[in-house]
Amino acid sequence: MQRSYSIASGPEREGEIDVTVERVADGEVSPFLHDVAVVGDQIEVRGPIGGYFVWHAGLGGPLLLIAGGSGIVPLMAMLRHRAATTPRPATRLLYSSRTPDDIIYGDELRELGARGDGLEVIHTLTRSQPAGWTGYARRIDDQMLSEVRGPLGDAPLVFICGPTPLVEGAANGLVRIGVPAQRIRTERFGPSGK
Ligand SMILES: Cc1cc2nc3c(=O)[nH]c(=O)nc-3n(C[C@H](O)[C@H](O)[C@H](O)COP(=O)(O)OP(=O)(O)OC[C@H]3O[C@@H](n4cnc5c(N)ncnc54)[C@H](O)[C@@H]3O)c2cc1C
Repeated sequence: MQRSYSIASGPEREGEIDVTVERVADGEVSPFLHDVAVVGDQIEVRGPIGGYFVWHAGLGGPLLLIAGGSGIVPLMAMLRHRAATTPRPATRLLYSSRTPDDIIYGDELRELGARGDGLEVIHTLTRSQPAGWTGYARRIDDQMLSEVRGPLGDAPLVFICGPTPLVEGAANGLVRIGVPAQRIRTERFGPSGK
């Protein structure tokens, strides 16, 4: 079996990498990694494949990161790299999850967002929200994209990652609200969206 998993750790880490695998209930590989694989098992790794969906400090900003579900993983590598380097461009992360329990890296995102170094984390919870929730509670749409992009100006550097429908919807929406297409980079994780 072969599947693609993004590197979650920042490039400053040497000698090992993190991956973060979401359990797809009826999947073949992700339940195996959750339920069967144990420490010491050997897994063959190819790659890294790509090189396009990459941000390093030299690319500058401002940065607009948009994630759906496990699409947060490669964006997390960027945020970890951003936290470890200077200068740090103004950055906003829009992260769509179904429920609060589905938020990956919740504690680390809270901690990074609280540093006051120009990172703002904005969640949208599409299926259920905790009591008293005042944030977004719907799928990403043009109005949300416009509000989230607002403080970053007209042409932030954008990285969008997640299920294919979310990625295509967000990229098309950003073009509609005037973000230059050449500033938008996308990574599609697959057919989900269910
Ligand atoms: C470039 C790239 C990077 C990726 N990085 C990550 C990552 O960092 N973390 C991560 O968890 N996943 C990532 N994925 C998705 C991953 O490769 C697998 O698709 C996913 O783990 C499902 O594999 P599976 O064998 O469990 O399911 P499969 O047996 O392949 O599929 C079973 C069922 O799940 C559906 N399905 C397939 N893919 C997905 C999906 N991505 N999400 C939801 N449902 C799906 C299928 O339609 C089918 O109904 C990435 C994909 C790509 C292309």
